[in-house]
Amino acid sequence: MTAVPRPSPTAHLEQLVVPALDHVDLVTVRLPFVAPFGTSVHVWTVKDAMLMRLESGGATAWSECVSDPDPFYSYETNTTARHIIAEFLLPLVEPGITLGELETRFGHVRGHRMAKATIENALLILIAEQQGVPLHALLGRPAVPIPSGLSIGLQDSPDALLRIVDRAVERKYHRVKMKIKQGQDVAWVRAVRDRFPGLPLMVDANGDYTLDDAAHLAELDAFDLTMVEQPLSYTDIIEHATLQRSLKTPLCLDESIHTLADAAAAISIGACRIINIKQGRVGGLLESMRIAHHCAAHGVGVWSGGMDETGIGRAVNIHLQTAEGFTIPGDTAETANYFHEDVIDTPVVLRADGYIDVPPGPGIGPRVVADRLLKRTIHAERLR
Ligand SMILES: [Mg+2]
Repeated sequence: MTAVPRPSPTAHLEQLVVPALDHVDLVTVRLPFVAPFGTSVHVWTVKDAMLMRLESGGATAWSECVSDPDPFYSYETNTTARHIIAEFLLPLVEPGITLGELETRFGHVRGHRMAKATIENALLILIAEQQGVPLHALLGRPAVPIPSGLSIGLQDSPDALLRIVDRAVERKYHRVKMKIKQGQDVAWVRAVRDRFPGLPLMVDANGDYTLDDAAHLAELDAFDLTMVEQPLSYTDIIEHATLQRSLKTPLCLDESIHTLADAAAAISIGACRIINIKQGRVGGLLESMRIAHHCAAHGVGVWSGGMDETGIGRAVNIHLQTAEGFTIPGDTAETANYFHEDVIDTPVVLRADGYIDVPPGPGIGPRVVADRLLKRTIHAERLR
């Protein structure tokens, strides 16, 4: 008996029509982090976020490009995204074509998915604003509370790490993710696990290891981690499959997955049992929903990662997590962990039970506060 094909989760979105755009602006804001965020590849102290603003017949929509100013997480930077958007993608955005047609046009530009996501998300948010519905409703999803997880950057000492985990447990975060790197792994995980035997705990290596470290990474099996995220190279899928066969702990892929095809390939060879979907990394909300749908059909868990976004990108991630397949608490944590003041109102807050409510109102929900935006703007230009 052949399996009944499952309906596409994005067919209704591909039919949406691109509205006529009166203006397109790019505004880059700089927000200092409450505390530096360190990974195995870099330490960030400020967030330089490139925001896109669309104006159409009195409606306004904001989206956020999740690239960094530097190419340390992804090859895309704010500068390359600006270049690709202005010179190649925006000229393809024509009123009256469908989002499906726009995706096909964007396919002619190789890669640069963060740049593509910036436009696709902005158009979806604009259409939601024009229809007067929240983004999750446009996506066809109900407003369900989102279980929140905290991602903790590399710390200077196990004591400093434990203090943050203490606070996360107190705040009822649904899981804790700690960054690891070579020389700062097994002993640090043991310190956390000894103090919190039942805590849902995972680690993220951001590609700091090689297959030669397989035996060392297998020591992590002792700590009942929910997953080890991206232990091997950001370009690899094959070696992760080899590593997964020697580990009891599920592997999760982040940097290696850019498309539904990547996800399907990784799953088919057993390279991971979980996928971290960052909507910007995979080109936007539509591809994110397709990947989550495919994962759900194959018993692979999905969660939404973060790029330390401002409230705009953070809200998009919250709406996305209402989609089918997002079964594992993600990295969307409350704004106060990152910024003293956001450019939007209301910031993301954590409920007493560790959930985050999907913001009400049309589009993403929260509104950009003009004077805060102006105060933080380091670059602005009108593209159209
Ligand atoms: Mg990661």
